Amino acid sequence: MGGLLTTAVAAFLGQSAAFFGVVGLIWLLTWRWGAGRLAGRRVPVRGKAFDRAQLIHELKHSVVTLLVGGGLAVALGGLEVAGFARLSGGLGPGGAWGAALTVVGLVLGNDLWFYGVHRMLHTPWLFKRVHCVHHRSVDVNPFTSYSFHAVEAALLTAWLVPVALVLPLPAPVLGLVQGIGFANNLMAHLGYELLPAWWLRAPGLRWTNTATLHSLHHTRHRGNFGLFTRLWDRLFGTELEGYAEAFAQAHRQDPGHPQG
Ligand SMILES: [Zn+2]
Ligand SMILES: [Zn+2]
Repeated sequence: MGGLLTTAVAAFLGQSAAFFGVVGLIWLLTWRWGAGRLAGRRVPVRGKAFDRAQLIHELKHSVVTLLVGGGLAVALGGLEVAGFARLSGGLGPGGAWGAALTVVGLVLGNDLWFYGVHRMLHTPWLFKRVHCVHHRSVDVNPFTSYSFHAVEAALLTAWLVPVALVLPLPAPVLGLVQGIGFANNLMAHLGYELLPAWWLRAPGLRWTNTATLHSLHHTRHRGNFGLFTRLWDRLFGTELEGYAEAFAQAHRQDPGHPQG
């Protein structure tokens, strides 16, 4: 029990230090020091502009999400201690290829899980009580990326528990999947479109999530529910119109986009 508590506190403190260090630095680089140079890359926003009250709300709810992350570490640690989950230190029985396939499978599985949970969170009852916390931010910025209600934070991470029960999860795989999720979340809420203008013309790449794509979701409070890709939105008919135009608007200072 004492070991689990230590794991929880260590996970919370470690994740908090990493989160506020990395997110704070990226926020300063883009929203403060780089704001002038990146002005042409601002994603188009319609609605309430970023202000101090939004930032305080986001910081408060980021701590809530980090506490839930500590809880998840306890749950996984408890399952391992009880012999239900196998969290190995190496790359697992399949070696490097097995680990790489597991990472791809987990990322795609997480994408589908998120799509389902996110659509459910947009039903009126859950939106009003849970998801409105995240959608209070219309003009998204790096600090929006962890700004969730505790129930939503738990739902978004809970998928790892059943996975850990059926799959041997090597620690490097788990770390990499969480790192990819964190980077993707940060990119989606950057408020600046740093991907090049040709991204939407590139086969394969055009189906990934972008800062513009997710910002449209925050501006309109509907559609574009995906996490890593646009695949599920395309398949289930929930893509928002105007994505290509918004993406072009976020490249208005680039050669070939002289309209801004
Ligand atoms: Zn939403
Ligand atoms: Zn969001």
